[in-house]
Amino acid sequence: MPLKVSIDEHSGFCFGVINAIRTAENYLEKHRSLYCLGDIVHNSEEVKRLSGLGLKIITHEKFSMLKDTTVLIRAHGEPPEIYDIAKKNNIELIDATCPVVLRLQKRISDVYQKSRSGKQILIFGKKGHAEVVGLLGQTENNGIVIASTDDLQAVDFSKPSIIYSQTTQNLDQYYELVDVLRRLYEEAGKGASLEFEDTICRKVSSRARQIAEFAKKHDLVIFVTGEKSSNGLYLSSVCLQNNPRTFIISSVSQLGDVDFSGIETVGICGATSTPMWLMEQIAAKCSDFSENNG
Ligand code: SF4
Repeated sequence: MPLKVSIDEHSGFCFGVINAIRTAENYLEKHRSLYCLGDIVHNSEEVKRLSGLGLKIITHEKFSMLKDTTVLIRAHGEPPEIYDIAKKNNIELIDATCPVVLRLQKRISDVYQKSRSGKQILIFGKKGHAEVVGLLGQTENNGIVIASTDDLQAVDFSKPSIIYSQTTQNLDQYYELVDVLRRLYEEAGKGASLEFEDTICRKVSSRARQIAEFAKKHDLVIFVTGEKSSNGLYLSSVCLQNNPRTFIISSVSQLGDVDFSGIETVGICGATSTPMWLMEQIAAKCSDFSENNG
């Protein structure tokens, strides 16, 4: 029986990533090259494609040495110091920060400016992740990044706190963390408390529910993601929970690691940073595989 391969209709780039890529493509249609600060998307295959069009990915170190040029800011956003450097070095910024991230940066900045040292600003996220660096920058790096409960020792429970989440974090883990923090505040009994804002992007949290259903419907799931993608890590874990026969790959060449034995249906899905063209290429190769084994 031929293998039945389907691609999850909800997978593929989110609007923040689509906007950043379109912005780069539009610019590159008229100019030969464009610098982009950091990987435009956490997917090396898409970065390779855009590099072929003239996009040049640069590090933050290289950025601070540039002058009189144009640089794209990707969907993850950047801290205020990047805008300061750009001003000083006559760098024109094409700002493709996702509007959802931009709103979150502004909320954090407003609260920080109003409360200064009075309130601790906690950010649930991955340390060093580009978006988290941008969020932390709104607090002059005085916020506390919490990747797991191991980081809670940095919180002073005699002071009030407000917690925000990196937009691509796991919703359930965030709510669990908030419960733990509330309990610790109560136990400390110092009269201080925790404010909480649910700032997880709905493009990610709704996708988790959809992907869970998708994973259950197939004998085998191929989850396509770059290794640096936070929501790829999260959504692939959702797939694994719902279908233990989930294989996580980043390119067509890794299809050889997938064990197709004894299955009839394959579901292909990916992160908000996984291009649809890559999932289509992988789907086509799965079909080849089934023909070769037919
Ligand atoms: S996941 Fe959400 S917040 Fe992040 S870039 Fe995409 S749309 Fe924007």
